[in-house]
Amino acid sequence: MTQNRPDVFFVPLEDNENPDSVERKTRLLFDEAGFQSIINPSKSVAIKTHFGERGNRTHLTPDQIRPLVQKVKEYGGKPFLTETSVLYKSNRSNALDHILLAYEHGFTFENVGAPIIMADGFLGVWERKITINGEFYDKVGIAGDAIAPDALLIVSHATGHLLSGLGATIKNMGMGLSSRMGKLNQHSEVAPKVDAALCDLCKTCIKWCPEDCILENDGAAFIQEEKCIGCGECLAVCKTGAVQFTWDASSDNMQKKMVEHAYGVYLEKKDSMAYITFLTNMTKDCDCLKSKEKMVPDMGIMASFDPIALDMATLDLTRQRYQQNLSKLAYPDRNPMVQIDHGVKLGMGSKEYRLVEIKAS
Ligand code: SF4
Ligand code: SF4
Repeated sequence: MTQNRPDVFFVPLEDNENPDSVERKTRLLFDEAGFQSIINPSKSVAIKTHFGERGNRTHLTPDQIRPLVQKVKEYGGKPFLTETSVLYKSNRSNALDHILLAYEHGFTFENVGAPIIMADGFLGVWERKITINGEFYDKVGIAGDAIAPDALLIVSHATGHLLSGLGATIKNMGMGLSSRMGKLNQHSEVAPKVDAALCDLCKTCIKWCPEDCILENDGAAFIQEEKCIGCGECLAVCKTGAVQFTWDASSDNMQKKMVEHAYGVYLEKKDSMAYITFLTNMTKDCDCLKSKEKMVPDMGIMASFDPIALDMATLDLTRQRYQQNLSKLAYPDRNPMVQIDHGVKLGMGSKEYRLVEIKAS
């Protein structure tokens, strides 16, 4: 920390750097960032990550998580991996199927060295209410066991995101550690419509919609607004641009709601939390969708005790390297500063920071 600016530690990576080298640099970053300070002997440390949707091949890998598990153990902590169920119909909508998919993706005890414990229970409905006195909520719904561990390491994969522009630390906490009701509340204002003139009735969205709320009507797809949970899946799969959201209001509100859920976790655990973000395999959409090509070459790994500074640094570093930040590269009409500024306003962190580059051979 320098003059009240938090440190963001950055270790550069080459594009597609070999896994042994990434593992070594991850371990170095953990030490340089001082993350041992949140670990107490024989105390639990939850590592929150994302195991990837079926068909996604660009999510974080067991090779990227294993060195963090090893580091926690080296400092005497008891690590485990944690996640929550998603809203939509998928292999990740309940704990059992989600864990089995995580195993398929290599996140086994043998491979990573830690078990998986879902934070929201078998059916994904276990919830705690946290008082935050925010702009949208007095209380937010957080996965019941998200704040139960002694320490929490938030390990995020930086991607674009079709609703929030940027999917990184704030999203990993705000969406990824909220309860099912918390997730619904964040999405609830986002109701898409189909422009019939652009729809060629390919029916992809009808097959993909997790709530079965898209019908065929008069030669075009039609969304039953009252059943829609605003997950955005139809927007992602529509190739003609027929599915349209009212972005200006809904994206901004959704981002602020996401931050307020992240703030609930932060308020409870802020003295025993640390954050790591991988700027690798940066895709247009988050790991809840099937992989597309990565948009830009890999850049590195960052670590901080400040979640806002870390996401700000993700935007800054990608802009400096690729002229446009990660959010603009993915969804040019989204404004991720909404989530950053709301996080600052709530007192979750700072958008001013000191970048500390770690030299690693
Ligand atoms: S956003 Fe689209 S895919 Fe998601 S529930 Fe609504 S209509 Fe279905
Ligand atoms: S995916 Fe797009 S083009 Fe295909 S049916 Fe749905 S709205 Fe129409």
